[in-house]
Amino acid sequence: MIIEPRAVKLTTRTGVDVYRTLPHRDRKMVGAWCFVDMLGPTEQHDAMVVAAHPHTGLQTATWLISGEVEHRDSEGSVQRLVPGDLNLMTAGNGIAHSELAVMGPRDALHAVQLWIALPDAARHQPPHFENYTDLPSVELPGAVVRVFVGELVGVRSSALAYSPLVGAEIRITAGASVQIPVREDFEHGVVAVSGRISTTEPLPKRGIDVIAAGVSHITVTAETDAIVLLLGGEPFPEKIVMWWNFIGRNHAEIVEARQQWNDRSERFGQFEDRIGGWIPAPEMPSVVLAPR
Ligand code: MN
Repeated sequence: MIIEPRAVKLTTRTGVDVYRTLPHRDRKMVGAWCFVDMLGPTEQHDAMVVAAHPHTGLQTATWLISGEVEHRDSEGSVQRLVPGDLNLMTAGNGIAHSELAVMGPRDALHAVQLWIALPDAARHQPPHFENYTDLPSVELPGAVVRVFVGELVGVRSSALAYSPLVGAEIRITAGASVQIPVREDFEHGVVAVSGRISTTEPLPKRGIDVIAAGVSHITVTAETDAIVLLLGGEPFPEKIVMWWNFIGRNHAEIVEARQQWNDRSERFGQFEDRIGGWIPAPEMPSVVLAPR
């Protein structure tokens, strides 16, 4: 199932379009992966200036193709992220963070922002943040695989995950066709980050091919030099409510989180950054948010 990306103008970002594939009206998640946004490549310096905003019930995973981003959060983290490393923030019960592109005049920012839904047993934990600089990589004929979450082609990331999950970047040489062994109990998404690639059919630029569980290999063919992300996991067994930057299990939880953020509650903490200010949560829709 191919999902075309859609451009979203975010109130929380200035300057550039962000392209989103998940969530989509026909497909909410791939495993616990529930949000895939892509930004750039762009040389605009205001491409990522995201002031303080909250999260609950999820992990944010930030992956860079190029550029550099400074992350700050209410746990006191101040972390520069560079390509090949992973920023992984576990919001748990609640955290606030900001993200700022920090780049030289000729640098381009190319970033992927991913969210991972936390299972019920893990979603109330205290928040924490980790930066991983030692992610394993493997060379296959025509490709280099770097695993940032879980295990793939015999190597394992040390990143903390709370459900059976895999996430990897695969750089493929023009003309190569790569066969990647995958877990048959996982569903997968192949995200076309750059270059022209096909799975069983050609992918649109920045699109995702969602592949149901039950396959033992995924084949990706690159017409040009290409970068894809492979995301996968066990089908997420719980129904969730996703609204703005929050994931909960029912409408009331979202209402509470929204109110507490806008009231500057201790739940989300506070921190200083070079952006200043904070992003208030918008008005809620008039309908009751239903878990799905
Ligand atoms: Mn965020």
